[in-house]
Amino acid sequence: MIRITSFAGKRVAVFGLGASGIATAKALVAGGADVVCCDDNASGLQAAADAGLATADLKEANWAVYAALILAPGVPLTHPEPHWTVRAARLAGVEVIGDLELFVRERRLQDFDVPLIAITGTNGKSTTTALVGHLLREAGRDVEVGGNIGTAMLALEPFAPGRHYVIECSSYQIDLAPGIDASVGVLLNVTPDHLDRHGTIENYAAVKAQLVLQAKHAVIGVDDNYCRAIAAKLIDAKGAEGVLRISSRPEAVCDVGVEDGDIVLRRDGWESTIAGLAGIGSLRGAHNAENACAAAAALLSLPQPLKPTEIDAGLKTFPGLAHRMEQLGRVGQTLFVNDSKATNADSTEKALLSFRGNIFWILGGKPKAGGITELVPYFDRVAKAYLIGEATEDFAATLEEGKVKFERCGTLEAATKAAARDAAASLNGASAEPVVLLSPACASFDQFRNFEVRGDAFRAQVAALPGFSAFRSGA
Ligand code: ADP
Repeated sequence: MIRITSFAGKRVAVFGLGASGIATAKALVAGGADVVCCDDNASGLQAAADAGLATADLKEANWAVYAALILAPGVPLTHPEPHWTVRAARLAGVEVIGDLELFVRERRLQDFDVPLIAITGTNGKSTTTALVGHLLREAGRDVEVGGNIGTAMLALEPFAPGRHYVIECSSYQIDLAPGIDASVGVLLNVTPDHLDRHGTIENYAAVKAQLVLQAKHAVIGVDDNYCRAIAAKLIDAKGAEGVLRISSRPEAVCDVGVEDGDIVLRRDGWESTIAGLAGIGSLRGAHNAENACAAAAALLSLPQPLKPTEIDAGLKTFPGLAHRMEQLGRVGQTLFVNDSKATNADSTEKALLSFRGNIFWILGGKPKAGGITELVPYFDRVAKAYLIGEATEDFAATLEEGKVKFERCGTLEAATKAAARDAAASLNGASAEPVVLLSPACASFDQFRNFEVRGDAFRAQVAALPGFSAFRSGA
């Protein structure tokens, strides 16, 4: 745990008692604060009580006695409207911040040599965070990984000289961290998302921009207009020295990009190869090339940068993340890929683009607006589709129009068996290796509790297929 000492001897309210809220309250108590926990839900209050934390109903409280309100990132700060605690705290002139702000304040107070790599973006955060952590670990560095991925950031190991922190940051966390000053800030991309919580895309982009504007070194993806503008603004303000622009597109003007399957660094008119990406199954597709470029650029920006040879070696052993283009294993030549995290057509587009063809595609679930019509341009890569869940009839219509063969399977189990059977039979004359791909383009809630449970079910069904040989145990 990272003890938070900046509120020692002061009274602090913590609202939102999920895993990160509880970790935050404990870190504040350990640092000497007088903490009162609050939640609108009885289960949160119970979790705090179970953890030995003081709870109270703050509806009628005198907010003037509090030094700060520490808000969980899931609680509305501005949109659709500020939560009642935010209104009450503001009326009393009490600052409203989150765990990320506590983290960066404590890092400044303790003043160790603690590199902080903070990563955000609409898509690719978890992959890039896990990859940066993996590359540092493989290079023998002391590293802690957490935040919006895995462990709550204040539950990580305490600061120690030379320890690296790789923190995935959601826009909500950044919104509650006005003082975020990372050693390296990474902004991957900005596309419309979470607008219910940020009002407009401009607000959302401005929140994301905070992470790189105040960082010592910035790494920014330049494949969308918002991020290109943020990079240009930063270069104008600070000069090009502290900014690395990244892209996986061959035509892009950038500092770290991809050329013939290699990550290359371009600076001052010269170019050098950093690492090879070819043949790394866990980093298939242009989107993962972007994530790998971002990770490499971040590690080259550290006060003690990683060597290109260390980045190259580490990339080759990256196991990937569960449920995101996760390679499960093979039956004969058929590859099985679990992309259960793809809950919308945008994400599934990335998956279809990652294979040349001969895809046996399992899709469906609880459909999102727009269905799969935007995927029609990639239908020629699909050998056959296997439909499950509520989306079946809607998707069947789109597939029929696009002239893709399909089968209504109802359940994931039936779809897995049918796809495995057809993939095995496809070997004669197929130009690409057969791939059975679960990339549903749908939420899972009609048949599963969440996308993890859906992906775990797929993994178990694939493991039960005769002749299956796994690449690694799923995590
Ligand atoms: P996040 O943590 O931001 O949700 P993940 O790393 O978990 O992102 O990836 C989730 C999905 O987003 C992936 O399955 C893939 O479809 C898509 N994705 C990953 N990286 C990128 C990227 N750089 N650009 C666009 N889409 C991406």
